[in-house]
Amino acid sequence: MKNYEKFPDQFTKKSFHRKIEGSGNENIAIIGAIHGNERIGIEVIKELLQKNEFNEKSFKNLYLVGGNPRAYAENKRFIEANLNRCFGKENDKSLKHLENSYERAIAKEIQKILEKCQRVLDIHQSRSKDNFIVCKKGSLGLAKKMNAQMIIISPELGHYDDPEGISVGSTDKFVDSIGKKGIVYEFGDMHAPDQTENIKNAYQESLNFISNKSRENSGSPEIIETIFVYRTKENFILNPEIKQFSVLKQNQIIGNDGDKVIKVHPEHVGHKIYFAKSEKNIGQEAFFIGRPLSK
Ligand SMILES: [Zn+2]
Repeated sequence: MKNYEKFPDQFTKKSFHRKIEGSGNENIAIIGAIHGNERIGIEVIKELLQKNEFNEKSFKNLYLVGGNPRAYAENKRFIEANLNRCFGKENDKSLKHLENSYERAIAKEIQKILEKCQRVLDIHQSRSKDNFIVCKKGSLGLAKKMNAQMIIISPELGHYDDPEGISVGSTDKFVDSIGKKGIVYEFGDMHAPDQTENIKNAYQESLNFISNKSRENSGSPEIIETIFVYRTKENFILNPEIKQFSVLKQNQIIGNDGDKVIKVHPEHVGHKIYFAKSEKNIGQEAFFIGRPLSK
């Protein structure tokens, strides 16, 4: 292991990835800072490189990937477009409007690495203190090996009325679309003043992921299937009383969009809400609703 002390500088200047060769069979990738303001993925990558504690027999190549260098340097979610909506094949029509963006160019670089990998762990953070995984149904087996308390299944394309395609272009979707396994793993609240515990969890789970270890936590994770996404029509303001992963009640007010009050749809009573935020950009995702499945 050499020159890793230069890592933070290098990372902020250009797209970053480092390949470590092992003696196993699989190619695997760990990605940090797909969203530049979710800082801990880079801390985990630095720690992996510094401590060198991973089992080199469990991979042929381990790729450590820094997602969005400019957004990371500026501590912003993204520069021009949400990078986790920019992954997709060269001819993907749903990404056409992103074609000239800074983030689509990065996604194309990172995709070349992901195409070589059998398993991908993408480290994120949310507004919730919980640790949870988002993945496609095809990667559920991989997700269940981890120690998260919750797994959210991201919807199939065309699963419901969403002309733009729901969550097109995330790493888990891209990997799934090429027949590989991938999970997006959210480690705690990105705004928490002390990130020590989140980094510790993310680092430990990364080691578990690398060695393909099975779940150690007792009990099974709760599994939630995403069934609905709300996109801002005018200017969505979230009701501050709505807590992430809370169970929706009849007639509950989720927020306001322009002068329209957005209430819980009768079909969504008893379901859970997540990734909920005020969102002023028209067409952007403001909240998701999912149905808890039996364990
Ligand atoms: Zn994120």
